[in-house]
Amino acid sequence: MTESHFRPIGTRIGILGGGQLARMLSLAASRLGMKTHIFCPDPLSPAFEVTPHRTVADYEDRDALARFAAEVDIVTYEFENVPLATAAFLAGLRPLMPNARALAVAQDRLAEKRFLADAGIAIAPFAPVGSLGDFEAALGEIGIPCVLKTTRLGYDGKGQRMIRSGADAMPAYADLGGTDLVLERLVPFEREISVVVARAGTGETRAFDPAENVHRDHMLFTSTVPAGISETVAEKARIIAADIAEVLDFVGVLGVEFFVATDTTSPALLVNEIAPRVHNSGHWTEAVCLTDQFEQHIRAICGWPLGDPARMADVRMVNLVGDEIEAVADMLEPGDAPHVYGKSQPRPGRKMGHLNRVTLRR
Ligand code: AMP
Repeated sequence: MTESHFRPIGTRIGILGGGQLARMLSLAASRLGMKTHIFCPDPLSPAFEVTPHRTVADYEDRDALARFAAEVDIVTYEFENVPLATAAFLAGLRPLMPNARALAVAQDRLAEKRFLADAGIAIAPFAPVGSLGDFEAALGEIGIPCVLKTTRLGYDGKGQRMIRSGADAMPAYADLGGTDLVLERLVPFEREISVVVARAGTGETRAFDPAENVHRDHMLFTSTVPAGISETVAEKARIIAADIAEVLDFVGVLGVEFFVATDTTSPALLVNEIAPRVHNSGHWTEAVCLTDQFEQHIRAICGWPLGDPARMADVRMVNLVGDEIEAVADMLEPGDAPHVYGKSQPRPGRKMGHLNRVTLRR
């Protein structure tokens, strides 16, 4: 089963996870004539609304996984916290793209940092923390200010504490449980950017333009393209993203987040983290690119030629969180392309949709 194997129209694509990313992947797959089957434990998953094929079961349920595998031709995922045993089990039954290694690297911050450092990619200095002794040594090595993070299940700013003075150190350590942590130097950055890159089984890569990301309440708020960076930095970011995909032997779409450092003594671009999936900071591609990130992912895993990631307009993607979604119709301006995820409950902090605010070049 080679990963560059061509998959014809009608291919059954299994997707692990049933959130908005799976929903958008499913819509893109449908446009190419593919069928998607969503596997998710939550019976209210928004992705269930766009395809009739579903399995509602736990990710550890081997019988359900085997039945799911029997009903699909290939398997992909929309989130990086797929249990590795689940990924390995499925990979034994059907081609799994991206591969399980990408998952293993992305779901553990320490593994991710070691992987990036070994690959020669510039990142913030870091040190593992498994005990109080480690923490004290790490503080000495990394220095203050720094950021303490849990190695697993950290996202949208969860599982991390800033240490700006000595007084912050022990409370941060205690708050995060004292083990399975990583201490990272605080990077003075002028902006944060991200690149979504696709890699085909043939090894071909195509990267979208970098987006400039602004966070609100530790969650992505806006992604603006073009980012306020030079073409040299933009090209460098695309190359780094493609290099990471290459080293992982990645097939599909990968998101790479960067700090653009202020301090000119360090490299201009430091990778913050990677996500082995379509990315929130790539949602703008659906409004202004010839091929968006979702179609690009489906093309890559189906062995179709990658599409042109060229951007046809300037754009700002705005996330709609919690009850902001209720005002979506009122907020629309000419040139806005809204996307509503169809989630039943607009809880605070829950991503409910986004708006792509497009500026046409006339
Ligand atoms: P993360 O969950 O690692 O993506 O971190 C969430 C946000 O915290 C990032 O987007 C940054 O704004 C900030 N942050 C995390 N790590 C660092 C760091 N080493 N230096 C500066 N800011 C950071």
